[in-house]
Amino acid sequence: MGNVKFHHVYKFYKGEPTPSVNDFHLDVVDGEFLVLVGPSGCGKSTTLRMLAGLEDVSKGDIYIDGKFTNFVSPKDRDIAMVFQNYALYPNLSVYDNMALGLQLRKVAKHDVELRVNRAAKMLEISHLLGKKPNQLSGGQKQRVALGRALVREPQAFLMDEPLSNLDAKLRAQTRAEIIKIHSQLQTTFVYVTHDQTEAMTMGTRIVVMKDGRIQQVAPPQQLYDEPHNLFVAGFIGSPQMNFLSGAIVRQEGVYYFETRRLKLRIPETYYHHFKSAGPNLRHVVLGVRPEHVVCDQDAVGIEAYADWQFAVQVEMKEQMGADTYLYGKAGEETLIARADAHTPVRPGETLQVALRMDKVHFFDQESGVSLCYAEERP
Ligand code: ADP
Repeated sequence: MGNVKFHHVYKFYKGEPTPSVNDFHLDVVDGEFLVLVGPSGCGKSTTLRMLAGLEDVSKGDIYIDGKFTNFVSPKDRDIAMVFQNYALYPNLSVYDNMALGLQLRKVAKHDVELRVNRAAKMLEISHLLGKKPNQLSGGQKQRVALGRALVREPQAFLMDEPLSNLDAKLRAQTRAEIIKIHSQLQTTFVYVTHDQTEAMTMGTRIVVMKDGRIQQVAPPQQLYDEPHNLFVAGFIGSPQMNFLSGAIVRQEGVYYFETRRLKLRIPETYYHHFKSAGPNLRHVVLGVRPEHVVCDQDAVGIEAYADWQFAVQVEMKEQMGADTYLYGKAGEETLIARADAHTPVRPGETLQVALRMDKVHFFDQESGVSLCYAEERP
């Protein structure tokens, strides 16, 4: 029921030199939790607002449930939107805020009561129904805003940064609640955030955007494991993936990744990626996640890592409780490594590390495109 189709959608705002949304082409499957993520200004909200009918589509088509929707007014689209700023009516009670949309649609009184009470129970705000918005905390207001969307029982929920006004603890709590609501309702959710952690924890599928363009669409783990380009690789994951510039060279049938100071053997499993890369191999970026920079001295020494070792000068140590992040330098290259929480290493020390070359990524330096994972257009 709640499937949405974006067919080569563009948004040109007056006075903007480039399209704010550029060829957005995607099918949203019924029941999925789709997250649009990317830095501020990349076109997420505009995309969502075009789906809601709050912005005109400049070019391309939007279909909801198979129906061409470009010119359907927002109120006639069977979707509910939740905003960052709650958008509650201050003079109405919580009950009336939640009921208003249904009353305007002439839903029978008994039905309105039933739906409001059911949503309030689900969100654990039944005890607040008689209060006014100014008597509520930020978290409670956002629940009311969610409740108002829930009672509509729409085909799709659209959410634009709904958690960004909440403090860290409430944000985590409400995040879990939204995930729960989605799994109970099994309705389509389209959710906008600039926060990659939020995207990774909530989405069943994530759309990474930059400068109005889709960079990659994939389930969270796949996005993390197989980023299609440098931007996605750097944006998803915290602390972010390490990048080293260098060349891939071949000597006596063996490939190495080489910088001015390092020469690391590349496992054979990568060789097939290099066949079509040609001259691109001279200017590549190696990407390695902090958890794949091995610091444990017992592990570093093992035979399998023999050609993957080098020394790092530790500059800073960030203790996170479960883990420690070590920030170090290998020549002019900066590296972040994830180490054991109780690692005895101190800033100023030199540490032998092994870079897990069986887990690294390679990107073409100029285009940023991955040499390992082919670009797939959705
Ligand atoms: P995001 O949600 O990813 O932060 P937006 O969709 O809000 O990004 O904005 C995308 C781009 O469109 C930005 O460059 C922004 O300045 C521009 N933009 C957004 N709304 C308008 C508007 N009403 N008029 C002109 N430009 C706009």
